[in-house]
Amino acid sequence: RQEQYRRLRDVPAVTRDGVSISLLVNAGLLVDLPHVKEAGASGIGLFRTELQFMVASTFPRMRDQLTLYRAVLDAAADLPVTFRSLDVGGDKVLPYLRTAHEENPALGWRAIRMALDRPALLRTQIRALLHAAAGRELRLMFPMITEVGEFDRARELVARERRHLERHGHALPASVRLGAMVEVPALLWQLEELLERVDFLSVGSNDLLQFIFAADRASGLLADRFDALSHAPLRAMRRIVEAADAAAVPVTLCGELAGNPLAAMALVGLGYRSISMAPAAIGPVKAMILALDVGKLQDWLLPALSRPHRSLRAELADFARQHDI
Ligand code: PEP
Ligand code: MG
Repeated sequence: RQEQYRRLRDVPAVTRDGVSISLLVNAGLLVDLPHVKEAGASGIGLFRTELQFMVASTFPRMRDQLTLYRAVLDAAADLPVTFRSLDVGGDKVLPYLRTAHEENPALGWRAIRMALDRPALLRTQIRALLHAAAGRELRLMFPMITEVGEFDRARELVARERRHLERHGHALPASVRLGAMVEVPALLWQLEELLERVDFLSVGSNDLLQFIFAADRASGLLADRFDALSHAPLRAMRRIVEAADAAAVPVTLCGELAGNPLAAMALVGLGYRSISMAPAAIGPVKAMILALDVGKLQDWLLPALSRPHRSLRAELADFARQHDI
């Protein structure tokens, strides 16, 4: 199997009916970087910047952040990298950051909420990213956006830092693309307004599923209770890709779902053409893509979305078996 996947490394991820799928990796530390090329990925779809903060014993300084971001961009060379701004709180704890006790940290003061309340932290990070990407493209997305106004405020912070660097004669990125993560269900009813503002979207299915089902992503007791391949989340994810396509805004999905071949098949059937996963998942997912006829899958899956069943998992597995995927 491993050997078979290694042979696929340089084979483009194109379905049997000629649809190209961009397979990206999730990363977060320097040690992840060699895997990007080894896995034959087309870039880093999610760089979790909080990992550097989580392994440190105090806040990494601007210079340390800059060094890491530059190393990431250098390692990726010509491949695109999407950085995510600091996503702490919830399941991602910084031992040295003292915060008030919260009964429900997953629903609490975390990610962009904390960043907008403590703009100095976010501004330092933005400055490090702008420096690191001098002369290249900077792609940055914000986690846990719940209202479009939060994206506006984050974008304004980026604009301010850019003006600051410009005034001081620093080299700037050749281009800056800003995106939002879609992981809070409230955004499903603000997609049009959001799509007018962003350069790209990235669906965080881990949190999106947790909030759609109101089921803690870390709870072992609930791990198998609700199915990601059931109607509610599949319809939600369909709605996002449909709206993004209509607005001609690129969309990626970067939750763990993308690394499971059957789920990845469902995502491609829903219309996703870019998915980001753990490096080890690239081989199995690519093997699935090469065996898939997207047209056939969509002809069956999209109408099936409007028929109420508890889960489409068994039917998706049947489809895969019938079509030798
Ligand atoms: C997600 O929520 O799906 C996601 C990609 O981010 P994280 O798992 O880091 O919360
Ligand atoms: Mg998340």
